[in-house]
Amino acid sequence: SFTAAIIGRPNVGKSTLFNRLVGSKIALVDDTPGVTRDRRPGEARIGDLHFTIIDTAGLEEADPASLEGRMRAQTEAAIAEADVSLFLIDARVGVTPVDEHFADLLRRVGKPVVLVANKAEGKIGEDGVMEAYSLGFGEPVAISAEHGQGMADLFNALLPFERLDEDKDIEEEGDEEVVIGPDGEEIFPELDTTKPIRVAIVGRPNAGKSTLINTMLGEERLLTGPEAGITRDSISVDWTWRDRGFKLFDTAGMRKKARVEQKLEKLSVGDALRSIRFAEVVVLMLDATMPFEKQDLQIADLVAREGRALVIAINKWDLIEDRQKAMAELREMAERLLPQVRGVPLVTLSGLTGSGIDKLMGEILRVYALWNRRVPTAALNRWLSGVLEHHPPPAVSGRRIKLRYMTQPKARPPTFVAFCSRPEALPEAYTRYLINGLREAFDLDAVPLRLMLRKGE
Ligand code: GDP
Repeated sequence: SFTAAIIGRPNVGKSTLFNRLVGSKIALVDDTPGVTRDRRPGEARIGDLHFTIIDTAGLEEADPASLEGRMRAQTEAAIAEADVSLFLIDARVGVTPVDEHFADLLRRVGKPVVLVANKAEGKIGEDGVMEAYSLGFGEPVAISAEHGQGMADLFNALLPFERLDEDKDIEEEGDEEVVIGPDGEEIFPELDTTKPIRVAIVGRPNAGKSTLINTMLGEERLLTGPEAGITRDSISVDWTWRDRGFKLFDTAGMRKKARVEQKLEKLSVGDALRSIRFAEVVVLMLDATMPFEKQDLQIADLVAREGRALVIAINKWDLIEDRQKAMAELREMAERLLPQVRGVPLVTLSGLTGSGIDKLMGEILRVYALWNRRVPTAALNRWLSGVLEHHPPPAVSGRRIKLRYMTQPKARPPTFVAFCSRPEALPEAYTRYLINGLREAFDLDAVPLRLMLRKGE
C-alpha cells in the first residue's frame, strides 16, 4: 500500500476527512486545546483501497505566535513522508492566499498532489471547485468529507499510487531472479507474457480515443460474443490481441464520458496524468488533421517525465489525401517539437475503420519489451570502456573526471548508474552523450532512459 498526507490550511476539513477515511471519531474527541499533536498516521480505507494516512490537523489550537512556523514544519514533514499529498481547500470559500501559500510549498517539493475541494455538497461549492483549477494541480476532486460524497472520485484519484506500489514489488521480484550463467554472464528473466500490459490511450478531446477503443472491443465482441473476453471495471477494460492480454485505459473517454459531454469538453491534465501513471505503455493519440498542438506536446512531456514507454498514434488517417507528404511533415514535427522522446514510433491509423490497429499493437509490444529491457553488466562495461577510450570525459578545473563502472539496477524504464569521481562536475553535454550512446548501442531508441551519476572511485 502507500502513504497519503492530508495537507491544507486550518478549517478546510482535514480532521473530518481523516475521520471519514479512517472510520473513527476518536481523533476528534482527542482534541485538547493548546496541545500540539504529532502527525497522526491512520489506516485509511476507501472501498477496497487500503493506505496509510497522515493528518496535519490539530495545529489550529496552537499558540498563534508560532502557528505558522509549526504548521510549516509539520506540513513539510508530512509531505516528505508521504507518496502523495491530498491538498484540501474549502470549495465554499474558494482559493485564499493561505491556500496559495500551501500550493507553493507543494510545488517546491515536487511530489505528487491530488487536489481536493472539500465542502462541495450541493451547488454552493461549484465556483470554488472551478477556482481550484487555478492552483495548477489539475482537476480538483470535489468531495464532502462531512457527508461522504465524492469518495468514488477520490478512490479513482488515489488508485494509481496503489499501482505504483505494485510496480515496485514486480521490480524487486525481477531483481531476485537474475542468475549467473556458465561464463559469469548475468541472465535476466524472460518477460512474463501472462501479465496483461497496461496501456493508456491519451490525447485531446475528439482525437478519437473512444472510437478506437470501441473499434477494438467491437472486433473482440465479434470473436467472443458480448460477455466473454471483456470485463470492464470503472477505469479499464481487458482486451486480448493475438493471445496477449491488455488492460486499456481511456480515463476521459470512458470513465467520465457522461460528465465530459455535459461540460465544455476540455483536456484535463489531471486525468491524463492519472492514466499515464496507470500505464506501462502510453498511446498518445493525435488528430492527423491538426497534429502536435500545444496540449499534445504537454502530454508527451508528461509521459517522458513519468518514464513510460510511448507510441504516437496519428488518427483519422482516412481523411488524409497526400499521405506521403503528411508523413514527412509529421516526422519533421516530431523531431523538432519532441526532442525529449527521440525515436518515438509514429503509427498512422483510423479508429473509425480499424485500419492500422495491428500496426499499433505491434509497436506497443515492441516498446513494452524495450522498456523492460535489461542490459547485462558485463556488456554495459565493455561498451563503457570503448567510450572512455575514444571520447573520455573532459577535464574540469584542470582535473580529469573519471568514470569507472556502470550498472543497470532497474528496468521500466531502463535506469543506469555510472560511478564517477566527481559527479557534480561532469558536464550535462557529456551525460547526454552517454545516454545517446546507450540508446544506439543497446537498441533503446524508443523509450525513456535514466542515467544517474554516483560518486565512486
Ligand atoms: P475522444 O474524445 O478522443 O474519445 O474522441 P471520439 O472518439 O469521441 O471522436 C471524436 C470525433 O472524431 C467523432 O466524431 C468520431 O466519429 C471522429 N473520429 C474518430 N476517429 C476517427 C477516424 O479514424 N477517422 C475519422 N474520419 N473520424 C474519426
